Amino acid sequence: MIEADVIVIGGGVCGLGAAYFLSQTRRVVVLEQESQPAYHSSGRSAALYIIGYESPEVSALTAAGRSFFDDPPGEFDARPLLSPRGGLTIAEPGSEDQLGQFLARWQPHCPNLSAISSAEAGERVPILRPERIAAAAFDPDWYSIDVHALVMGYRRGVMRQGSSITCNARVTTMSRTGDRWWVEAGETYSAPILINAAGAWASNIGDLAGLHGVPLQPLRRTAVLLPLPKGGATWPSVHTLNEDLYFKPEGNGLMLSPEDETSSAPCDAAPDEVDVARAIDHFERLTNEPVVKLQSKWAGLRTFAPDRRPVIGPDPREPAFIWYAGLGGFGVQTSPALARYVARCVTQSGGQDEEVDAAIAASRLIAAAE
Ligand SMILES: Cc1cc2nc3c(=O)[nH]c(=O)nc-3n(C[C@H](O)[C@H](O)[C@H](O)COP(=O)(O)OP(=O)(O)OC[C@H]3O[C@@H](n4cnc5c(N)ncnc54)[C@H](O)[C@@H]3O)c2cc1C
Repeated sequence: MIEADVIVIGGGVCGLGAAYFLSQTRRVVVLEQESQPAYHSSGRSAALYIIGYESPEVSALTAAGRSFFDDPPGEFDARPLLSPRGGLTIAEPGSEDQLGQFLARWQPHCPNLSAISSAEAGERVPILRPERIAAAAFDPDWYSIDVHALVMGYRRGVMRQGSSITCNARVTTMSRTGDRWWVEAGETYSAPILINAAGAWASNIGDLAGLHGVPLQPLRRTAVLLPLPKGGATWPSVHTLNEDLYFKPEGNGLMLSPEDETSSAPCDAAPDEVDVARAIDHFERLTNEPVVKLQSKWAGLRTFAPDRRPVIGPDPREPAFIWYAGLGGFGVQTSPALARYVARCVTQSGGQDEEVDAAIAASRLIAAAE
């Protein structure tokens, strides 16, 4: 039997982040069912940091992590963890009337977001077909996140601080007796506090603990990697206003996504050929770049609560069970702020982190099963 102060279920960016901050004062064991951390959603993201994303709450939480991304501690190889990317939003013919609404929604949070001419959009990304750009906006403050360095830094910090990450350890049962959790994952693990950072499986982990009724739905999202067109390395990330296509430079390729949201059971997600074809078809209509070859394709699960807000904090029915789930399409960019917050739910230290407290207060996070 292995004893710890805290058991974290899930070795994605959320579980590792929470373990990283907690390991400074607690003995933590992270249990991950796969043979390596970040195998699921955390290893399949678009790696973007976008303040004007999803909701004002998510925006505030993303902004609250900025100083960590800019100046991470010594365990992190890359400094800063962000590199400039820029974001170009394109209104295709028929949706140009909605650009004003988009700007009104996000300009209060994104001071450098502004409308630009179609000609300027074409200069920024020359493969765009001029007739497909009815209106456009540009925000220079979008960044690429070095997700690998973030995850490896969290991982290194956990180990250096004397905590552990155990892979191939799928949690199959758990119970609470006295003031401790007893968890079976190949071996028996025991700790007074448990953090559920199981991503797409978070509802199932709630069920194992007898904490039913937290409706988290995994939604599949597809990605395709094309060879990088000439000159593409410096292009911004390009998104349609209708949220039905984005593409962005990614290493030596160009990543596209049809921004699909197909309900899925928790699983090792794989791309559906229809979604791949839809992404390519739309990309070919929007640009003058024919797709002749795919470098790779993949899919990942983005898991949402019905109101698309994260499910964070102690379960009101069992406060020793802490949720860190429902991170949808923003779990990486909110990770420094939310992981630190989740760690503080355990240590119950307050008032030391005004930046995060302010963002949490602004976000009105739902408590699980409230
Ligand atoms: C295509 C795509 C693009 C995205 N783009 C962005 C982006 O640009 N920016 C951004 O911030 N976010 C983005 N996201 C979202 C982001 O990837 C997720 O919000 C984030 O990775 C969630 O992290 P997690 O740790 O909760 O989940 P995961 O990384 O899935 O980790 C959960 C872990 O729990 C483990 N687990 C589950 N059940 C058990 C069990 N019983 N026992 C042991 N272990 C278990 C799983 O194996 C898994 O490794 C994107 C997602 C996708 C799919």
